[in-house]
Amino acid sequence: MQADLFIQSDNVLGEGPVWDANQHSLLWVDIEGKLLCFCDLNTGDVAQIEMDSRIGAAVPVEGGEAYLVALQSGLKFYKPKTGAYQLISDPEKHLVSNRFNDGKCDPTGRFWVGTMDLTAKQSKGSLYCLDADLNVAKKLDDLSIPNGMAWSLDHRKMYFIDSATYQVVCFDYDAETGKNKNSHIVIQVPESHGIPDGMCIDSEDMLWIAHWGGGNVSRWNPFTGELLQKVDVPAPHVTSCCFGGKRLDILFITTAKYGLSEEQLEQFPLSGSVFHIKPGVKGCVSPYFKLNKNRK
Ligand code: CA
Repeated sequence: MQADLFIQSDNVLGEGPVWDANQHSLLWVDIEGKLLCFCDLNTGDVAQIEMDSRIGAAVPVEGGEAYLVALQSGLKFYKPKTGAYQLISDPEKHLVSNRFNDGKCDPTGRFWVGTMDLTAKQSKGSLYCLDADLNVAKKLDDLSIPNGMAWSLDHRKMYFIDSATYQVVCFDYDAETGKNKNSHIVIQVPESHGIPDGMCIDSEDMLWIAHWGGGNVSRWNPFTGELLQKVDVPAPHVTSCCFGGKRLDILFITTAKYGLSEEQLEQFPLSGSVFHIKPGVKGCVSPYFKLNKNRK
């Protein structure tokens, strides 16, 4: 199976696709290009907005015309209509060589997001969780490149990738409190397959993992650790994926030009574009960030 070109874009480090079901649109980021990108699937219109610093991840906020953006300058709300930012928290203000990386909402609307060193120095990163009351808690530290996250269909498991380990770990998850505990390794990705990067889950509880340096997105069984299906992407640095479309049957895939040699860029000129495929299985909704409007 091979993914097709969806949008030819020139992202330096395309990442973090999110399906915005209410808007029937895809959003994603270009971390190094400092861009928040959109494609409206009703019209085919593509737009991008330049952010004030590197953007690791973005999610729409439920019921508001705003996005929650994980910027190097802090976690902020951003309103595209006015261009206004509102700082929520900057938990790593003291770590000037760190930036936010992959982020995603859990099924109840908390926002989980990792941080990493700009040059991916080992063990400099952490994983944070922002709740509906806008409290930020550090959940994991000593991470190198925190990336893919996904929650099982029953919300009782949280899957997580630190790319440097080539592993997917599984935590017991309490969706009511947002507590993660008891991690164990469920998938060990062979180095030849490419570095595991972004991740999403499908309606059969199987994981889809983007492989940086592997030119593919693959489906894995987290119960057995086995590889089930491979989708080739005509770009070596595949960064992340999410399901979208009216029936949630389209897998959208982001890629990067970052780190490719001149020869590789010539050989894979679509690097940095967004791809899509109908892999024959449906996905799950991308949850919005849920803000407690009555918070004190
Ligand atoms: Ca990533």
